[in-house]
Amino acid sequence: MAVSRKPVVGVLALQGAVSEHMRLLDACGAEAVEIKRSKELGRIDGLIIPGGESTTIAKLTGVEAFDAIMDDIKKRAVAGMPVYGTCMGSIFLAKDIEDSTQGRLGLMDIKVRRNAFGPQKFSSERLVVIPELRNEAFNAVFIRAPIILSCGSTVTVLASIDEGIVMARQGNLLVTSFHPELTSDTLVHEYFLSMISEAKSVALLPQELLVAR
Ligand code: GLN
Repeated sequence: MAVSRKPVVGVLALQGAVSEHMRLLDACGAEAVEIKRSKELGRIDGLIIPGGESTTIAKLTGVEAFDAIMDDIKKRAVAGMPVYGTCMGSIFLAKDIEDSTQGRLGLMDIKVRRNAFGPQKFSSERLVVIPELRNEAFNAVFIRAPIILSCGSTVTVLASIDEGIVMARQGNLLVTSFHPELTSDTLVHEYFLSMISEAKSVALLPQELLVAR
């Protein structure tokens, strides 16, 4: 059963480019809500983990409220809720971070290299072709971006550039190493919303996961 009402999309608001995602979600006709606590996860149909600094977020591991929200995000994601990680969000979703033991959700079968574009290239705009989404290239903003070094067999690569993979999907999980929310192009957000309307997560979720903590 698809979600027929206006989709409600959470943006994890602990750090990073939150309002930019909310603006684009709004432009796509979704209801965007900031997520800071576990109890706010109950009514969302999908979640965006924005860019920021993964080592800062990882340091929150061990803080009770942080561990609780991470635990509940994991449960919802495993139950089928679509989750989209941009840049830092993609690092946080990855199972494997090269040469790092930093905390992570570790849900997606990808290996990432942090800051893959080197210190001299902290930020750049690149045209990225995402054949499955559109013929016309997407003007992608990379900020101290990771690259996806390898993917498991159930991961679909959606876009690559010379340096490596920059967009991939595994079932209900989507990652981009770039920041579509820093443009006005809604392509990637519309794609994520299409994943939400495909998802059966709302209907399938065990009731106890929907109970506010
Ligand atoms: N370099 C950052 C990290 O490792 C990610 C940067 C970003 O999200 N723009 O977490």
